[in-house]
Amino acid sequence: MRPEDILVPTPSGVCCKRGGFHIDPTRPVQKALITHGHSDHARAGHGAVLATQETLDIMRLRYGDNFAGATQAIHYGETITLDGARVTFAPAGHVLGSAQILVECGSLRIVASGDYKTVPDPTCAPFELIPCDVFITEATFGLPVFRFGDVDAEIAKLLHSVELFPERAHLVGAYSLGKAQRVIALIRKAGYGKPIYLHGAMESITRFYERRGIVLGEMRAVRDAKKAELAGAIALCPPSALQEVWSRRFPDPVSSFASGWMRVRARARQRGVELPLVISDHADWDGLTATILATGASEAWVTHGQEDALVHWCVTQGLKARPLDIVGYGDEDESDGVSETASTAL
Ligand SMILES: [Zn+2]
Ligand SMILES: [Zn+2]
Repeated sequence: MRPEDILVPTPSGVCCKRGGFHIDPTRPVQKALITHGHSDHARAGHGAVLATQETLDIMRLRYGDNFAGATQAIHYGETITLDGARVTFAPAGHVLGSAQILVECGSLRIVASGDYKTVPDPTCAPFELIPCDVFITEATFGLPVFRFGDVDAEIAKLLHSVELFPERAHLVGAYSLGKAQRVIALIRKAGYGKPIYLHGAMESITRFYERRGIVLGEMRAVRDAKKAELAGAIALCPPSALQEVWSRRFPDPVSSFASGWMRVRARARQRGVELPLVISDHADWDGLTATILATGASEAWVTHGQEDALVHWCVTQGLKARPLDIVGYGDEDESDGVSETASTAL
């Protein structure tokens, strides 16, 4: 059996004919297996969705109760048979509820990892390595220039700036699902105990994290705060809000942005970011390459991001590798957050 007999890359996502399902399809399908709740992977309108309970809950928050015809929750480590294929979900370490999906037919094992990172994150289960024959990997930061350091050092930079400028608000742009809650948890871990202020677009998802047992300390809505109260405060917002009229309610705000892209100085400057924080929910170059090798896979399929560089690297390591030209996966970090802000229904 060849891997292509099990999973077929199509423009709208990876399809398993034997199992009758797609993984993270970008167009409505009969049966979808969803790796995690980010909007480019988890879309509304499928006939049936199989995902972790957290991912289903996040989709419900985002799209409303009727986001799919039917839903089924699966635990990490649980295996179910779908027609001619066995599927098992395992933690991907990306955001709350994120999963890699192992698809097995006979003795052939393919892992679709969705988005992942292998460094610790206090807000989600750690990445679990699954030995496999074919590893399907993202490549958001698939260039050697992307090497991310210690996130605690980035948070220390933020807290140092808060100390230096007690009259200014610190406005941190962070993607609403995952990044924002991780940044808050890291700030708490560093010992900061004051209230943290939230943009309206990230309130319900952040409250959802709390209901799932992630401790984030006291949080307040920006809209309920007086301008004077925001002096010296830390507030989180979707990246796009940094440039919006919304940000004018803050006293002389220090503009900050938590993203792997902040590794590129020019990018920070372009966006007018005064205090770039290199904090990514995706694996960096070392994370990607080490993971591919550690799976023992003889073949790698590369989905979105910097496919070419990673495919090339795989070939130099003696692996078979191919880019999957799936249209519609973006990078959440890069999104300007407009759809996030718009969907205040969240
Ligand atoms: Zn993602
Ligand atoms: Zn993605």
